[in-house]
Amino acid sequence: MNNKVILQISSISKKYDSHLAINELSCDIYEGEIISILGPSGGGKSTLLQLIAGLAKPDAGEIRIYDRLVSSKHSMLEPEKRGVNMVFQNYALWPHMSVYDHVAFGLKRQRLPRADRDQSIRSLLQLLELQGLENRLPSELSGGQQQRVAIARALATTPQIMLLDEPMSNLDGYLRLQMRSELKALFKKLGTTVLYVTHDPEEALAMADRLLIIKEGRLEQIDTPQSCYLAPATPWVAGLLGAINRTTSSIALNNDRMFNIGPQSARALNPFPDVQIPAGQRVELRSRPEDIMILEQEPESLPPNYDLNRPIVLDSSFEGKHWRITLLNEPDILFYALHNNYLEPGLQVWITMDPNKLFAYPIKEGG
Ligand code: ADP
Repeated sequence: MNNKVILQISSISKKYDSHLAINELSCDIYEGEIISILGPSGGGKSTLLQLIAGLAKPDAGEIRIYDRLVSSKHSMLEPEKRGVNMVFQNYALWPHMSVYDHVAFGLKRQRLPRADRDQSIRSLLQLLELQGLENRLPSELSGGQQQRVAIARALATTPQIMLLDEPMSNLDGYLRLQMRSELKALFKKLGTTVLYVTHDPEEALAMADRLLIIKEGRLEQIDTPQSCYLAPATPWVAGLLGAINRTTSSIALNNDRMFNIGPQSARALNPFPDVQIPAGQRVELRSRPEDIMILEQEPESLPPNYDLNRPIVLDSSFEGKHWRITLLNEPDILFYALHNNYLEPGLQVWITMDPNKLFAYPIKEGG
């Protein structure tokens, strides 16, 4: 990975009326990176893209592209001079323009010699597998083809940065999966720096070199998919990335980074060795249903530091690959686990898990 910063976002804020859509957000993006911007609807993802594209003006902070100031409260470089192109969620294709003319559009404005222009268009059409469709109108294309036209049009002027706003939201299941890997391969081949908005955690993890996770306009975590998944920075990020089981507890320090958690007597590892959690501190615990092992019989032995609990089955729902089991643990803690067969409601089972997969977060005073 190239370590030259292409995009520098410093303490950027954007208000709509009194609502802060982006709240003092800072990050550096490196050349050639694919960044997935992940967060819930209304979290500020599109606003962030618009600020980078120059379609919205910040109320505070600065954006630089290769050290050049492009956005601040006092100065804005025009969008077309930034080397940034955007692909919108609905593709924004022109209904009366052919595939060829869409791709030619930006190049015509660059006043390239005709032969060079034709050559560029041909290679883009080939790259995006649109050959043979040159004369079609958007209404004569499938959703996936329309998406590729929108991307070809954005790539035609060889932008340094591509911004994509939920580009897959109009595609269904299988095509979405296929486009995911094709797009990633294409951007890597071209070396384009990409910021890619999605609200789908799985898509974000699969596409990105790094995830930029935002909530209510604030940066929650920016890191590799693996790091975000294995050590979510906040309980909220943990929940977004599948750790939906949640409980609070007070803890007693055991040894090193290991904690005993009463009264369920489970043990958790603090995922952040540099964050001290003192004895007696209340914590929020998070775990993923797929990490909880249900045993129908009492095990003879367990790996070191694994604990046993005895919850009661409340419900079993079939989800195809597995059954989702709703469990009730003392005292009144409801949580989910995945299991490979049906379990009768009312049955008391044994559960255990790898303590490395139970995340503990100190609860702030008053929190
Ligand atoms: P996301 O893309 O994550 O769904 P947005 O960036 O579209 O979120 O929106 C962030 C917040 O800013 C939302 O509360 C939204 O209602 C508000 N917002 C976005 N654009 C505008 C606008 N042009 N005028 C007023 N409010 C806006």
